[in-house]
Amino acid sequence: MRALVIGEVNAAGIKPTAASLVTAAVKAAGVTDMLLLGQGQSAQDVAKTFSGVETVFVNPADGENILTESLSKAVVALVKEHGYSHVFFEASSMGKSVMPRVAALLDVAPLSDVTAVIDAQTYVRPIFAGSIEVTLKDEEPVIVASIRATAFDACEKNGQAQIVMNAPFPETMRTRKVSFEAVKTDRPALQGARIVVAGGRGLEDEEGFKKLAQLADRLGAAIGATRAVVDLGLCPNDWQVGQTGKIIAPDLYIAIGISGAMQHIAGIKDAKVVVAINNDPEAPIFEVADYGLVMDAKAGIDELLKELN
Ligand SMILES: Cc1cc2nc3c(=O)[nH]c(=O)nc-3n(C[C@H](O)[C@H](O)[C@H](O)COP(=O)(O)OP(=O)(O)OC[C@H]3O[C@@H](n4cnc5c(N)ncnc54)[C@H](O)[C@@H]3O)c2cc1C
Repeated sequence: MRALVIGEVNAAGIKPTAASLVTAAVKAAGVTDMLLLGQGQSAQDVAKTFSGVETVFVNPADGENILTESLSKAVVALVKEHGYSHVFFEASSMGKSVMPRVAALLDVAPLSDVTAVIDAQTYVRPIFAGSIEVTLKDEEPVIVASIRATAFDACEKNGQAQIVMNAPFPETMRTRKVSFEAVKTDRPALQGARIVVAGGRGLEDEEGFKKLAQLADRLGAAIGATRAVVDLGLCPNDWQVGQTGKIIAPDLYIAIGISGAMQHIAGIKDAKVVVAINNDPEAPIFEVADYGLVMDAKAGIDELLKELN
């Protein structure tokens, strides 16, 4: 058995979550290769140290400009050439787009949102917004899965993988990505941030979210939000945490004016310490919070800022 892990690269280098995918792949298949989406030298330098990785294939195209359709075909070509038993993607926007295409091209059923690997064929994944965990056996000839990186520790970094430059992906599509514009922010990315402060409907208005931003900047934190406030247009879609937003695992999650609906909690199951501020002592968020403050959301932020300053 041998796995292939797809390692995503962005402007900052290889995504740290790639090291968690390697842990999952090594547990499933014993040994793994990695396809690196991007040619940055720093990404290669990091990827080749991942323990358990034997070969790092470097895709010569810029990671952020790869078209998922072409990438799917390139992954399938690698799988056929090397006979991989497992192909693991991160359960990210990119992974969620490419993984089912690869599964379809290989004529196997995809396995999404894996949170634990029991053995080569047995996996755990959440269903019903994380309220039930199922253990299932995947008997497909190639196991094509998306992995929730937050559920796995990063692999050790004392490996010595060989680097192989791939031939450019064949132009198989009539569509081309013309430009890619990343949102510019000085704050850490939501996925991967150590501290996240998140706001919900209890913050009420733009003034509430300005205060939330002040707190985030004071703590060097990323900002998260509930779907309710995204739908209200109070904050951008990419701040949404939860079942249909981002799954995160910060060391500290501060939920302000958030009720704690199960679809929101599904996104913070692996957060280490949860702090909640809510003026309703019966709010469900207090059931998952390690520390709770029953008070007005904006006043709570003012108090925290006063203490921090
Ligand atoms: C299929 C599906 C998928 C979904 N996916 C997601 C998802 O990914 N992420 C997500 O977040 N939601 C998701 N939802 C929506 C989810 O069910 C909730 O509606 C949403 O999370 C509620 O957001 P909220 O906590 O901001 O608002 P509310 O539930 O309205 O809660 C507001 C909270 O603020 C408190 N409050 C009010 N005023 C104050 C004040 N002045 N000071 C302090 N506290 C105050 C209230 O006591 C209350 O607890 C999904 C729903 C469905 C059906």
